Parts: sequence; C-alpha cells; structure tokens
Amino acid sequence: MSAEPVSLPPTHAPIRPLPNQLVSQIAAGEVVERPASVVKELLENALDAGASEIQIRLDAGGVKRIAISDNGGGIAAEQLPLALLRHATSKIASLEDLEQVLTLGFRGEALASIAAVSQFTLTSRNAAAEHASSISNLHGSLEISPAAGAVGSTVEVSELYYNTPARRKFLKTEQTELGHCQDVTARIALAHPQVAFSLHHHGRVLSHWQAGGLRQRALAILGDEFLAHARTVDSSAGPLHLQGFAGSPAAARGRADQQYFYVNGRFVRDKVLTHAVRAAYEDVLHGDRYPAYALFLAIDPRLVDVNVHPSKVEVRFRDGRAVHQFVFHAVQAALALAQATGQVSAMATEPPTPTAAALHWQQTSFSPPPTGYGVAQTRADYLALFAQQPASMAARSDVNAPATVPVPTIAPPVAHFLGYALAQLHGIYVLAQNVHGLIVVDMHAAHERIVYEQLKQALAERQMPVQHLLIPVTFAADAREVGIAEEHRTTLEQLGFDISAVSPTALAVRCVPALLAQADTAALARAVLRDLHDYGGSRVLTQHQHELLAPLACHSAVRANRTLTLEEMNALLRQMETTERADQCNHGRPTWRQLSIAELDKLFWRGQ
Ligand code: ADP
Ligand code: MG
Repeated sequence: MSAEPVSLPPTHAPIRPLPNQLVSQIAAGEVVERPASVVKELLENALDAGASEIQIRLDAGGVKRIAISDNGGGIAAEQLPLALLRHATSKIASLEDLEQVLTLGFRGEALASIAAVSQFTLTSRNAAAEHASSISNLHGSLEISPAAGAVGSTVEVSELYYNTPARRKFLKTEQTELGHCQDVTARIALAHPQVAFSLHHHGRVLSHWQAGGLRQRALAILGDEFLAHARTVDSSAGPLHLQGFAGSPAAARGRADQQYFYVNGRFVRDKVLTHAVRAAYEDVLHGDRYPAYALFLAIDPRLVDVNVHPSKVEVRFRDGRAVHQFVFHAVQAALALAQATGQVSAMATEPPTPTAAALHWQQTSFSPPPTGYGVAQTRADYLALFAQQPASMAARSDVNAPATVPVPTIAPPVAHFLGYALAQLHGIYVLAQNVHGLIVVDMHAAHERIVYEQLKQALAERQMPVQHLLIPVTFAADAREVGIAEEHRTTLEQLGFDISAVSPTALAVRCVPALLAQADTAALARAVLRDLHDYGGSRVLTQHQHELLAPLACHSAVRANRTLTLEEMNALLRQMETTERADQCNHGRPTWRQLSIAELDKLFWRGQ
C-alpha cells in the first residue's frame, strides 16, 4: 500500500469581502445559539429601554415564533433601520462609555444577527410619534411601514434559522428549547423584580410575575421552600456590595440549577464567583451537593470588564482575588450568622417562640432592600451607589475589601443548652430534655460533625493524635493504590496514617488517626487513598481538606443501631455543645432539633 498524500482542493479563489448578509449569519452563530438566546437579547433590549411590563409569546419552544412586547421608550421611525444595522447602538458612544457600561446591551449586534437568521419584524413607537412603525425583512429586503401600537416595542421573530438549515438541525426538541427559554426568562426576571413579566407558549400562560420586591420575585421563582430557609446576605466593602439570599445547606440540591449570580444586574457564570460561594459552603456541604443561591454583586463598572464574551455571561474582574475574598467572606458570614442565631435562640433564658426554636434554620429577619438592591433599577441608582467609592481598587495597594465585612462571633455555649439525655429512639435518635422542651439529635450526623471538626483542628495544629496498631492490618491492593500510598507518603503521615506496601499486591496499615480508630481500618485506608488520588497534589490538605476529612469522619462516626448508654449520650451532647457548627453534619443536614413545650402543648391542644 502506498501512502498517497492527502491533497486539499487548491484555493485559486481571490480574496474578497463577504456579503453583509453572510457576515451577519456568521456572527449570528455566536449571538443566537438557540431560541433562548433570542429571548435573552430581546428581554435585555426591553429592559434597557426602561420597560415596566414585558410579554413573551412563544410557539414550538420559540423555534416557530418568538414575540416580545414591552412598554419601554420605543424607537423613532427614522431610526428603525439603524436598530438593525450591525454595530449600531444607542447605548455607548466612546471607549470611556464602554468602560463603565451599565446597560445590558452595548455591542449593537443582537438585532442584526437575529434578523439575519429569521423572519423578523420590529414594531415600535416612541412618546413623540403619532403612530407606531414597523420594519421587517419578510420580503427579502428591509421595508418600513406605518403600524398600530402603543408606546413601546414588539419584536416578532419567526422561523428561526429557516435560511441556515445546518444550524436548525442542532436545535433540540421543542420541549428542551422551551425549557431553555423559561430558564433565561427566570434568570432575567429574578434580577428585575420591579418589572412585570408574562410568558406564554402556544397562547397558554406559563408564568406571570407581577412587579414587586426582590423577596416576592425570589419566592415566585425559587419557591417558598428555598426562601423559608435562606439566609439574607448583605455586605459591603469599598466598591463592592453583595446582597441576596444564600440557601441553607439543608436546601442544597443534586444539580447546580438554582445558582443565580448577578454582577451589576447581569446574570453571569464566572469561575471566581462560583468558587468563592462554593468555598463559603465548604464546611457545611457535602462535595456532591449544590447550594442554591440568588446573589447580586454591585461593583463599580470600571472594575469589571463585561465585554469578554458575545453573550456577556462571562466577566473579567480587575482584581479577581479581592472580589473572591469579599464574596467568600460575605456568604460565609451570612451562613455562620444564621447558625449563631440558631444557637442563641436555643440557649435563651426566655422560652423562645415555637417557630424560632423549631425552625432552627429560619433566616435572620429580613430588612427591606435599599434602592437598587444590587440590581440597577436605573443607571442613576448605580452612579449614586458608586459616587463615594474610590475609582480603582487596583490602585490601592492595601486592597483589603473583606476587612469591613462583619465577621460574626459565635456566642459561647451556656452550660448544657442541649440538656440531658433521656433515651435513644430506634437506634437513630437521642432524646434529651432542656429548659425549653425536647431535643432530638441525629446521633450519626452529630458524631460525624464532631469527628470532622476535631480532625480539622488537629490538622490545623499539626498534631494529629496517632493510634499505632499492635497488629498491622494488611489488605489486598491494586497497583494504583500501592502507587498512591507511596506517592502521598508525607500527606498520609500528616493525616496520621502509616500505609505501606508489603508486596506489589498488598498494603499494610500500621497507624491510623486516633480519632478514627473506631473505623474499619481497611475501608478507611482505601477511602483515604481514593480521595488522595481524586484530589491529589501537594496542597490537598489545604485546598481539599473538606473532601478528604468529611468521608473519613463519616467512616468512623457511630453507626445507627448502636446502643449508647446514657453516659455516652450525655457525652455526645456535651461534645456537640463545644463543637463549632455542631448543628449540621458534613452533608449539610441538621444534627439536632428543638421541640419546645409550647409546640408540644399545641400538639395536644393544651391550654386552648
Ligand atoms: P444593543 O442592545 O447592543 O445596543 P441591539 O442590536 O440589541 O444592540 O439593539 C440596537 C439598538 O436598537 C439599541 O441600541 C436600541 O437603541 C434599539 N432597541 C432595540 N430593542 C429595543 C427596544 N425593545 N426598545 C427600544 N429600543 C430598542
Ligand atoms: Mg441588545
């Protein structure tokens, strides 16, 4: 067989500029990925136009038809062709404007791109006009005609990608596209509670959100379960303000589908921000659970570049590290504050109200948001917000944004606020009595939390108590496990383990952390090797401490069904009292609950 060189077709064609329509179709590939991207661009335009009411009508998941009407400022008839012109915008005029842009749009390419791949009609009327006017591409070229309509704009997009069949093939089922359109609408609506939105599909109403406050909008979009247990976040430091709601660890989800983060009112997916929030939840949430949150960061627009990505979901911060620190501390403080409040309410000398005691997770009291609430109601709101701020964080050498974030202190536990053990229930719960009534403890979860905190502390103090095994425990291992044990020898030692190969297929454990001496040694060793492999690297003990320690704690925590003596139960209660965050286990579940006498009375209709 002779290897024939692959010959490419010769390109004898001369270089020539592409026709405008084709340029737009190519660009549309970036901006108009699917019907939901059209919905996003049109909603942003309506908001930029100052609308207070927006209607979205879809057919066939938006593939057949997307019609969005708003009651915003509208466009003058003679400006309509410009609205459809690529790189034509009313939102910025100079580089300086770009550097402090606060409108959602500014690239002037959405309408041009959408019109290039659809049958498009824009009908608009501004306050000065006697009637509305329409511009459409339905007959091949752009045509303007008088039309009926109130002040505001309506954009009709039908047969998306009818002229670019290759792209149309990439669309998913109608239901999937509809789902994306709903997601985009919810995302935008959450950040604009002062605007009413309604979404229809094939003429049926899917959502209708009235204008109101953020709390009301969050309730409509994230649900009352989320809101009932969410903690209020409200922190400022220099040019940074973070507000919103951080879901309780108990309300965490299996998917990252309720993570809403906004920068100056724009929904973003940003590594720095996601990581900061994740890190704030680190200690209270198992690695495979996703916290739910709706957070609004307001930042001087000069300190963030929003022109990174055509659809603007990515941003770049001038000082990413300071922003990370600030967000991390703000969320962590909110989470810890709620815990502290919970403990205080359980320890109060006055009997707490039934709800305060039972709903341990109940958020701290909610104060109505200040104007803007991290979301620009108007450009003026933002400018007022930043008026007193230094123009540049980067210019200050001592960037210490978190310094002004209130770091809550957890009140020292009053003697025995978890009371005294009464009994064990079905081998799962410990029942105890305190001044307020009944305490119910999930014994495994509580123990796990305690072990975890002890491990963490021992590691931090670099004095992990070690248990030498009289007889080493050997177990069959594969080459990979043997390799990991050798590679991570030092880390294992720091953790309190001595695991070494006794043959190419067997490992021996000679030491384990004393705190984990109760656990099944071989299972524990396998778990630590697997986690070291997954999170490996020299900084595993600092960066992945939680992933490493949490499963270990779980291994050694008392199993359900183990009978405890009263002394053991009381010892557990005392340990819980002195352990920070003992009110939730590492998986984010609560570890204990209080049922007050008042609540018990209610159950039995006493005094009614
Ligand atoms: P951009 O939003 O980046 O400026 P677009 O292509 O989305 O670019 O829109 C071009 C221009 O058309 C906008 O700058 C704005 O002046 C005008 N426009 C678009 N949609 C609306 C609307 N719903 N109401 C009023 N003006 C609009
Ligand atoms: Mg736009």
